[in-house]
Amino acid sequence: MVPPIVQSATFYGGRGDGTELHYTRYGNNPTQRLVAEKVARLEGMEASLPTASGMAAIALTVLALAEEGGHVVASRHLYGATVTLLREELPRRGIRTTFVDPEAPEAWRDAVEPTTRLFLFELPTNPTLRVFDPRPVVEIARELDVRTVVDATFASPVNFRPAEVGIDVSVHSATKYLAGHSDVIAGVTSGSRDFVARASGLLRLYGPALDPHAAWLLDRGLRTLQLRVHRQNESAGALARYLEAHPAVETVLYPGLLSHPDHAVASELLSGSGGMVSMVLRGGGDAADRLCDALTVARVAPSLGGVETLVSQPRYTSHAGWSAQDRAAAGIPDGFVRVSVGVEDPADLTDDFGRGLDEVGGVAPPDPLG
Ligand SMILES: *Cc1c(COP(=O)(O)O)cnc(C)c1O
Repeated sequence: MVPPIVQSATFYGGRGDGTELHYTRYGNNPTQRLVAEKVARLEGMEASLPTASGMAAIALTVLALAEEGGHVVASRHLYGATVTLLREELPRRGIRTTFVDPEAPEAWRDAVEPTTRLFLFELPTNPTLRVFDPRPVVEIARELDVRTVVDATFASPVNFRPAEVGIDVSVHSATKYLAGHSDVIAGVTSGSRDFVARASGLLRLYGPALDPHAAWLLDRGLRTLQLRVHRQNESAGALARYLEAHPAVETVLYPGLLSHPDHAVASELLSGSGGMVSMVLRGGGDAADRLCDALTVARVAPSLGGVETLVSQPRYTSHAGWSAQDRAAAGIPDGFVRVSVGVEDPADLTDDFGRGLDEVGGVAPPDPLG
């Protein structure tokens, strides 16, 4: 019932009879293949390539699609390392990027150049959890013969299947929901067989193959993916509603709430609103620090998508390099707290946040009946 971990780096073969050579850096170790096939089926894509991290998956994807001199149009709202890759690293390899506001389909069209090879965006975005409608952007890309790539890490394939809206390539940091236990670094990119063959060619050269033991842990995580994400959807929804009613909280950002700016699009596009909840505290940065100190069930740590609830302040993590003004302009003022909801008893979570927010002080606790 449980597949073995095939730790072998090399395999019998190489008789010059044209059969494929098997070598773990090539990504064709049986444990790597098992995960690749599972993720491809989950995504509804022809093929998948597991990699040693989410960043490896993103880098190989962009390199596979943008040839030398290729141009990328990318959303302004991307994971920090992806922005650095596009802005600082890839230009040295002759690949340039124009960043656009993802919500304006015409901005994508206007940014296209004769050498544009791909559109890259994330959905939902970090940490404001915006969900823009990718369908008009996919149409423009088709018309202009440009490939579309989404980093759908925050949604997981349970809540969003990019192939269903015609997106060509889906990338995940499998470190997050896919593996789900904060104990493995992994990534995966999925798309057409042709695309995955090109990305696999680069895997052989650059070498970020997923270690077989990590592949095995990822496979184990995948077996509970649906259970975990369904529970996280439910608990995050309950927590978001609780926080929205708490007087210490100014705003709650959760796509499942009617108050979320993208609620309508998110309801159409996503099967579940996800396990990420963000909020802005009335008491600003001090209140956020005090809340983080007071929590006992939730832990303060970066990353997301695991079975334990994690809390972080973007001003110390993803947006540490930004000025307070730039953060505020991007909708991330001091007092912004991001929560990755785990699988604990939802009542334990609301109790924890309720106690924590009461300690933030200056406000009455919410009426439990109201
Ligand atoms: C974590 C993350 C990444 C990077 O993944 P690693 O597995 O840490 O390399 C990329 N994109 C998003 C949206 C992420 O959350």
